[in-house]
Amino acid sequence: MSNDEFNGKVVLVTGAGSGIGREAALAFAARGALVHGVDLNEQAVIETRALITKLGGKAEAMRVDVSAEREVAALIEHIAARSGRLDVAFNNAGITGQAHRLEDYPTADFDKVIAVNLRSVFLGMKYQLPLIKKGGGGAIVNTASVAALTGPGGMSAYAASKHGVHGLTRVAAMENAAHRVRINALAPGWTETPMVQVASAQNPGFAKLATTAIPAKRGGQPSEIAAAAVWLASDAASYVMGQMLVVDGGMTIGGFEL
Ligand code: NAD
Repeated sequence: MSNDEFNGKVVLVTGAGSGIGREAALAFAARGALVHGVDLNEQAVIETRALITKLGGKAEAMRVDVSAEREVAALIEHIAARSGRLDVAFNNAGITGQAHRLEDYPTADFDKVIAVNLRSVFLGMKYQLPLIKKGGGGAIVNTASVAALTGPGGMSAYAASKHGVHGLTRVAAMENAAHRVRINALAPGWTETPMVQVASAQNPGFAKLATTAIPAKRGGQPSEIAAAAVWLASDAASYVMGQMLVVDGGMTIGGFEL
């Protein structure tokens, strides 16, 4: 992939104020894209814009709640008005929610995790697709998780939301493959972002997972996940459609070492 792979392209990154989203915003901008970074945390996404600008890249920043339909619709209208096109969307914002056994899971918390992680991907694609198609096509990458393939105890809402992201991605890819929009999911494993740092502080058992459950014996770096998102969105992945790329240091290999 060349350094000007995304020259002239307009890329939307959600959850761009932190972790994987921030690294992806930086990586797309470093390859020439104009990045529209959005996040619920306005200050954080303004910082991401500043980091990109400092490195000579092009970025805009906006506070958006990706689970709110009116805000998502307004965001796409804003991108159409400012940039006239949208080539790539990285629907990445997400939350884990608190861990509870299913029978104790507060229903309102379940709904919240589903809204932020799954409804957001539905709303995102719903409003992004017409603008991407108007410009002749492009790519969408949705952040799922290894929890789209596994059943992590205590994380019913999170796992359900990420299984849902995988399913939505496949349907959207099927519907749009002939319309020159490639849609794929990305499944990070245990990645050292603020999300994981908070979970580790709350639950020391979770912190130990990195060295016990991951064959690589370390957590992933946000930049290692961002690199996969950039690849999926690039022309190098031109025949990859409806797939979920797992980037997890071997966490889901499922085998064992003799
Ligand atoms: P993070 O907490 O560092 O960043 C997530 C960002 O999303 C934050 O800036 C937050 O403000 C933003 N956000 C939360 N709710 C939002 C909303 N309603 N609207 C807009 N923005 C919102 O987390 P991360 O680890 O970078 O996670 C990014 C994605 O990767 C998430 O979808 C997460 O589920 C997924 N993921 C992370 C890991 C991991 O180990 N870190 C593993 C698998 C999947």
